[in-house]
Amino acid sequence: MVAQTIDGREFAAGIRGDVAAHVARLRDDHGIVPGLAVVLVGEDPASQVYVRSKGRQTVEVGMNSYEHGLDATTSEAELLALIDRLNADPAVHGILVQLPLPDHLNEDLVINAIAPEKDVDGFHISNVGRLATGQKAMVPCTPLGCLMMLRRHHGSLSGLDAVVIGRSNIVGKPMAQLLLGDSCTVTVAHSRTRDLPEVVRRADIVVAAVGRAQMVPGDWIKPGATVIDVGINRIDAPERGEGKTRLVGDVDHDSAAAVAGAITPVPGGVGPMTIACLLANTLTACCRANDLPEPE
Ligand code: NDP
Repeated sequence: MVAQTIDGREFAAGIRGDVAAHVARLRDDHGIVPGLAVVLVGEDPASQVYVRSKGRQTVEVGMNSYEHGLDATTSEAELLALIDRLNADPAVHGILVQLPLPDHLNEDLVINAIAPEKDVDGFHISNVGRLATGQKAMVPCTPLGCLMMLRRHHGSLSGLDAVVIGRSNIVGKPMAQLLLGDSCTVTVAHSRTRDLPEVVRRADIVVAAVGRAQMVPGDWIKPGATVIDVGINRIDAPERGEGKTRLVGDVDHDSAAAVAGAITPVPGGVGPMTIACLLANTLTACCRANDLPEPE
């Protein structure tokens, strides 16, 4: 069997198209333009790439993008004052503070200073609690993108066995909540899990969010299972020339694709969905702020 590829680029392009059409209607019918503010503290190169990409895609769907690049030495008080201003600004519907923050800044404090209704990353404690209790929430973008791909591939997820490898607050835990919300039987595995291969072999759905290159081999995968590879890892690629690198996931793609029913590629799977979901969340926040119907 060769697994079907779940094409995140194509799916994400469709979501961006839907968001752009909705944004155009908001502007034409109501004179409203959704706005997303992205705050970057310091000069982490990977974060700079993400922030630029987010800004570009925000503008491409017709929204306003407000980028705030702060010095690495910015104090907590200065950062909190900026968040206060963005919370109060009616032109800003979504606020995202790019993580990780420099060590001297308390991430929990900063994230929880964002107004929950503008917290388009879904990391505010109130959105976490809402998701866990099945209330209307801002849902973290990466797991939301994974859920959308799974729903599109399977239709109903009800009753399926799902294993999420990784228990971080930004991917693993919210992913588990979302799968539970769709009536999967969910196992959350982590670095202390005993006999991980056996745990993974039971799963109809495997979501790998570990941060270890190609850790999950094909012989851990149940034949026909759906594999969502969240990992983004850069490894040496001497076959491409001296000093060259390439991106791989947490799953060993080729051996897993020989067994799985469907699998997301890296790059081109979960990554593009994450930013598309950020734009969709910003649109939702804007509609809620203006008491207008939310996008489907
Ligand atoms: P974290 O480092 O926060 O969490 C990693 C998780 O993996 C932890 O729960 C850890 O367990 C678990 N883990 C580590 N080693 C093992 C092991 N040997 N066996 C089983 N579990 C293990 O990572 P994130 O959740 O932030 O990110 C995970 C991956 O997803 C990374 O590659 C990241 O780059 C990528 N990512 C991709 C995004 C996208 O848009 N595509 C967005 C966000 C992340 P424990 O808790 O016990 O330490």
